[in-house]
Amino acid sequence: MTDEIVRRLAEIVGEEHVTDKTFIRAAYTQDFGVQPPRWPAYVVRPGSAEEIAAVVRLANEYRIPITPRGGGSAQEGGCQSEGGIVLETLRLNRILAIDESAGTVTVEAGITFVKLMAELEKRGWKIGIAPSGAMAGTPGAHVSRPGVGWGNIKYVCQGDQVIALKAVLPTGEIISTGTRANPNARPFFRYALGPDLAGLFIGAEGAFGILTEITLRMYPWPKQIYLERYIGTNLRDAVEIFRQIAHHNLVCYISVPVIEPEHILFDVNVEGDPPEVEHRVQRIRDIVRQYPSVRYEGPDAPSRFWERRWFLTGEEFKQGIAGAVNYFLPFDKLEEATYIMRDIILRHGIQRFAQQMFPEPTGAEHVNLLFHHSGDKEEYAKIHRAIGEMMDKALELGGAPYSKGRQWAPYLEKHLGGTGYWETLKALKRALDPNHIMNPGVLGL
Ligand SMILES: Cc1cc2nc3c(=O)[nH]c(=O)nc-3n(C[C@H](O)[C@H](O)[C@H](O)COP(=O)(O)OP(=O)(O)OC[C@H]3O[C@@H](n4cnc5c(N)ncnc54)[C@H](O)[C@@H]3O)c2cc1C
Repeated sequence: MTDEIVRRLAEIVGEEHVTDKTFIRAAYTQDFGVQPPRWPAYVVRPGSAEEIAAVVRLANEYRIPITPRGGGSAQEGGCQSEGGIVLETLRLNRILAIDESAGTVTVEAGITFVKLMAELEKRGWKIGIAPSGAMAGTPGAHVSRPGVGWGNIKYVCQGDQVIALKAVLPTGEIISTGTRANPNARPFFRYALGPDLAGLFIGAEGAFGILTEITLRMYPWPKQIYLERYIGTNLRDAVEIFRQIAHHNLVCYISVPVIEPEHILFDVNVEGDPPEVEHRVQRIRDIVRQYPSVRYEGPDAPSRFWERRWFLTGEEFKQGIAGAVNYFLPFDKLEEATYIMRDIILRHGIQRFAQQMFPEPTGAEHVNLLFHHSGDKEEYAKIHRAIGEMMDKALELGGAPYSKGRQWAPYLEKHLGGTGYWETLKALKRALDPNHIMNPGVLGL
């Protein structure tokens, strides 16, 4: 049977783009996180939506699970597969259209963000949101998580930037959303022709289909990008500053790479025409002046970081990342959550960790990174017990996971099970994926 499946997959994608070889499958057992390894039976690398649709139909025929994977740079195990097909999208890496009239760019799902952004920059355009993991990350995955990143306050999250999607459904049909559903139309308006079907795929991590094309909004490259850093000694004051800056929409992005109870370091990034930047920076300084616990640190350090941001953000992962727990919380829960999560981490005897925040317009992403020495099995086990407790607590506090993958599945079921929302998601899954082959297990579906 294995030989037969490899042969049939090869008929679709070409022999050089399918394998069941152990040494190649080994490279697909994990993503950038440290979920337990899962071994796929096959890896395929299709080159078009039609090839993806044919692979999906074959998976239905043999009832084999199929899991989309972009760069494998997420950390929650969403692109892992136990015994199924991992379908890598990286050959779908073209920019299909730059529509300067509508202000949109249409790309294939597997292009990396760095490639997309470099091409747009040459023409004086940019996208709203890009993840720090832009070297490996793909828009297909970023929309599916849905991802956040540089641009969080002004542009919110990648889902908000979507104008249209093209996707292969779990049964192999190909659909387009927004105005693009009309074969005569270009993608220029998302909320068209009926309900917003793009929303079905945003945040679904492949549970409802595989994205093949994405149309995102694009924006003229700003005349000025200005950054400055602040350091505070009172967490409550710092959160209040984030809230005010966010509510007044003064920045493109706030990054808080360090939060400790008495040491909070944050950078603000303001983009626009010089007078607009000057005006916004003055308003930020006026807000900060109300809080003597926070001091101005200057533009040098964040500007140096900004120049090399795609290379430097992975630095802390070199310490040996053992796990990450990322969730969204409203502003008024951030201080409490920082202390509660810190207590959990310390109670489990974990020595090396970092807490961070990435504010959004209505709350913030709260990040906990836990480090260990690889090979220290006891530390690893402690960390994973702590992570379980933290996911449970985040949902109990009214938070929402940033990306769910396989990591959050039991906790989503525990906290949402029986709600109308959860039951509707399951009903949609049954209806759209009757053989339950499309990335089973993500989100707990
Ligand atoms: C150093 C570093 C920094 C990072 N910073 C950020 C950040 O600032 N913001 C952020 O959001 N993320 C960040 N990430 C996480 C990650 O890089 C991004 O979210 C990225 O967009 C994931 O893309 P990927 O192609 O690697 O996803 P993968 O890991 O390949 O997949 C992630 C999920 O998407 C699903 N998926 C993949 N392709 C498709 C598709 N075509 N259709 C449907 N589902 C699909 C997979 O099944 C899986 O569930 C960071 C990662 C690293 C290593």
